[in-house]
Amino acid sequence: MKPLGSLVCLLVLSSLALAQHKNPAHKKTAASAKAVPAWEAIHQSALIIDTHADTPQRFLDENFDLSQNTPVNDGHIDFGKIKKGNLGAEFFSIWVEPEFKGRYAARAMDLIDSVYQQAARHPEQMSMAFTADDIVRAHRQHKFAALMGIEGGHAIENDMRLLRDFYRLGVRYMTLTWSNTNDWADSSGDIQDPKVKHHNGMTDFGKDVVREMNRLGMIVDISHVSDATFYQALLVSQAPVIASHSSSRDLTNHPRNMTDDMLRAVARNNGVVMVNYYSAFVDEDYRKAAYDPEKMKQRDAQVEAFKKQHAHADGSPVPYAEYAFIEKKWAEQFPRPPLKSLIDHIDHIAKVAGVDHVGLGSDFDGVTSLPQGIDSAADLPKISEALYQRGYSAENIQKILGVNLLRAMRDVEATARRLQTERKEADTLSFEELELMIGNRVTTEHLLDVIREHGVNFDLTPERRTRLKAEKTDDMVLDAIGKAKKR
Ligand SMILES: [Zn+2]
Repeated sequence: MKPLGSLVCLLVLSSLALAQHKNPAHKKTAASAKAVPAWEAIHQSALIIDTHADTPQRFLDENFDLSQNTPVNDGHIDFGKIKKGNLGAEFFSIWVEPEFKGRYAARAMDLIDSVYQQAARHPEQMSMAFTADDIVRAHRQHKFAALMGIEGGHAIENDMRLLRDFYRLGVRYMTLTWSNTNDWADSSGDIQDPKVKHHNGMTDFGKDVVREMNRLGMIVDISHVSDATFYQALLVSQAPVIASHSSSRDLTNHPRNMTDDMLRAVARNNGVVMVNYYSAFVDEDYRKAAYDPEKMKQRDAQVEAFKKQHAHADGSPVPYAEYAFIEKKWAEQFPRPPLKSLIDHIDHIAKVAGVDHVGLGSDFDGVTSLPQGIDSAADLPKISEALYQRGYSAENIQKILGVNLLRAMRDVEATARRLQTERKEADTLSFEELELMIGNRVTTEHLLDVIREHGVNFDLTPERRTRLKAEKTDDMVLDAIGKAKKR
């Protein structure tokens, strides 16, 4: 792809000029806007959606507030960085550490609450969002949209009712696993560990979870899962899936990353792969250095010693936020990879899966190392700049920045509506079912309830009326059938 340079520049500048004309608050003239490079105009006019940040742990465990503009070493996201990077929407990760065994759901609830608390404290700057339309609406109001995704299917505690409750609380995606295999789906994180009981992908319950997510309109997220879980989820899911924060395995050989075959499978499913920025997932040299077994042993020993020293009096686990500084310090010994490595992943996925199937899933506030130049959300414009320099058109850059994710989300929402309608149709009363109930002497009152609640899928023809009359059916029931909605 070649830069469309001047044409794009002209188009973007003229649309910028129009926008400024409409908004009297803008004092800039079209002449001064000419100084804005084309890539910056593209970036600033885009709706940018990132699908993975671990900031809720900071909200909950560090009492961090988005209005505190902390150094990049402490955190990747706050209002200052959001504004500078023009980040429009973030899926905040509801990550439940496996150490919280016995209270996974409670921990998830606390993290969910922490996101709502931020929105409640800052209604002028941000708003909660639950649909693609909500994201667009918030963007029009110049507000940062906060969404939530559960990281780790163990959070539902093997209970479909909890899955539905999480949806009701606003959770819009769930990774089927985190790095731990759960009772119904295998993870890439421990697939080689013979001590872990695996399922060859997913159990029947796991497949039902995917089906129920489709019906609810919760995006099935295949980041972290094993390859077998990935392919099975794609077979079962009727809606597009996403990888909320995964990169290319062809470029960086980590099992968390996706093979080219998997990328093509997501494209066929109309899903999106959101690229993870973590240095060890985007740079093979960094991965090899950081995954040195001896070095990892040292890190783990330091973490264990800290956890022992700082054990909580009530026996609750020491959360990651408390010892993250150890891992960050440890990671500093490995040189950060160049920004090019990250851009290579976006480019590779765009070429293999297609430019409609790639997006951004930073993993901000969840990783110990980022490529050079990307210190926080404030540096997002550098990604647009690099893509522009590689010849990506304005349209394609904006697809990567957010349009693709919006499309997939809309598709998930439409699939849920269709599945819910089909379910309703399946629930409507057939003439045979009604006859059976009357034959079984079900009370008139109950019959009326069932007819009103579910509707009927037949017309009350004279012949049917006669048959029901012969069974001594109450006239009120016949009346109700006549009025019931045919679904
Ligand atoms: Zn993750």
